[in-house]
Order: sequence, then structure tokens, then C-alpha cells
Amino acid sequence: MPGMSEGLNRLLDAVYPPRCVVCQRVGAVVCADCLSRMHPPDAPTCAHCGATIPDTDYPAPRLCPNCSAGRNLTHLDGVRVATDYAGAARTALLALKFAGQRRVAEPLATLMVAPFECDIRSVDLVIPVPLHPSHQRERGYNQAELLARALARTEGLRVRTDILERTRATEAQTRLSREDRRRNVAGAFALTSPGAAAAVMGNRILLGDDVTTTGSTLDAAAEPLRAAGAASVWGLAFARPSRGDSDADNAS
Ligand SMILES: [Zn+2]
Ligand SMILES: [Zn+2]
Repeated sequence: MPGMSEGLNRLLDAVYPPRCVVCQRVGAVVCADCLSRMHPPDAPTCAHCGATIPDTDYPAPRLCPNCSAGRNLTHLDGVRVATDYAGAARTALLALKFAGQRRVAEPLATLMVAPFECDIRSVDLVIPVPLHPSHQRERGYNQAELLARALARTEGLRVRTDILERTRATEAQTRLSREDRRRNVAGAFALTSPGAAAAVMGNRILLGDDVTTTGSTLDAAAEPLRAAGAASVWGLAFARPSRGDSDADNAS
């Protein structure tokens, strides 16, 4: 019951005012100042994977070398990210992911609308990238789901968590190359049931995740959706490490 927990949250906020998980200032779980310090990746970005590309004379649509070679994110229509995984964004995401600060998802999700401003309302279903059940049991929640639900609430979209499952616990991606990441997660996702396939058919799907580095996890999650006849599958992550900082795209 969202109404009840909102009321409870307001009461708790009155008694114990929240502190910003980034700067510790009293007032909001992530303050406006810290949110304003979370920046989208530098332009220009690749029209397909959303990665920053060198500012040279790329013909439009601009594609990064990996995407123009046609071997990147073959199941996805494309990927967009809200912010660089650095500074305030990184601190806030770590609080969401590892310190049980679930309410951080709401302010962070507000930043996820902008990369999709043209067409987010044409999305039929939002599906968070599922954790492996053993990882979800450990943490008690899926941070990607919290972000997806917060985003969907503000945009009036539908979220489904009963369509896609992670059938294989995958190795942490941290030290893997692009190609090894792809291999590591390939075939790690499946539809839950024949009914799930019917729900996917013909629909425009937005896959939500907290962090993506190469997009390989999002792409692997898109594979069974594409096979079931999804009209489109886009990936949207809150953050992406800039090149060289790849400590974020782990298995969970
Ligand atoms: Zn702050
Ligand atoms: Zn690209």
C-alpha cells in the first residue's frame, strides 16, 4: 500500500528528518545540490549505446566504433544512461545498493527521464533487470527494481517483474574485458513462462538497471524479450562509469 507507506514516511521524516546520503545535510535523502552535481555523459554520444564518443567528424547518426562495426548490443535498440558513475552519483548509488537506503531510488529515478524525454511515454512495459534469486535474497531487494518503480510511478508506466528471470548467477564483471563480459552473461536470462511471452509480444519494452558499463547485461536480458516478439527493447541505466573506471558493472 503506497499511500500508507508514504504517510508513514512523512511521519518518520517529521520525527527523524532525513539526511542527504551524499553530503549529510538535513532535509532530503538526496538534496537538490547533490542531485544537480550528477551529470549526463559528455556529448557527443553514440546514437546506439549512448557512450561518449570523440568529438570528431562522425556522420549522423553518430555511432561509436563498436556500434558502427555492428557487433555491439545486438538485441537492444539502444542504451541510454542518466549520469556518469562518479562523485555524488556513485555515493548515492552505493547507499541504495549496499546500505539499505531504499528511498534513494526516488530522487535518482527523476534523473532517468531526461535521456528518454522524447519517447518514454510510448513505453508499454518497464522491466527491471532481475537479480539472481540468491543475490536478491541476500540483499532483500533489487535496486534496479526500486529505480524502475520510482521512474514508472512518475511517468505513469507499467512495471512487470514476473516476466524475466535470471537463470544463472554470473561472475562479477569488474575485471572482465568487453568480450568476456558478453560471454559471461550470454544466456543468463529467460522468460518465466509462456504467459510471459504473450505479455511481451508486440510491446515496446524498457529494461531498467542501476549501472551499466558495456551494456552486455542489458543486452543479454533483451535477448529472450526480442525472441518473444517485443516490438522494441531499450536499456536505461542510472549510471555508467566513464572509460577506465569499471568497478561498477558487477553481477548484481
Ligand atoms: Zn547533499
Ligand atoms: Zn555505441
